[in-house]
Amino acid sequence: MRIKTKTKTKLGIKAKKKDALLPMRKKICRFCADKKRVINYKEVKTLESFIRERGKMLPSRVSGNCAKHQRKITEAIKQARFLSLLPYARL
Ligand SMILES: [Zn+2]
Repeated sequence: MRIKTKTKTKLGIKAKKKDALLPMRKKICRFCADKKRVINYKEVKTLESFIRERGKMLPSRVSGNCAKHQRKITEAIKQARFLSLLPYARL
């Protein structure tokens, strides 16, 4: 029991230190914040901001999109790729 409590306190201190080093910044979905922004497969510029240099899609934990808009983005990127507006992969 004593050991357990000790480890717990240690972990607690570690977690606090980590928080101090990397403060959690709340991510906001760009499309929820700005209702006028529309997700469309034809808007390559907006879609391009959600793909990496190599052409892979950005995960929502990086982009900060909500699940609903991430799904729409994914669909739009796939459509744009099929029409060769966006690449599947860049070398
Ligand atoms: Zn959203």
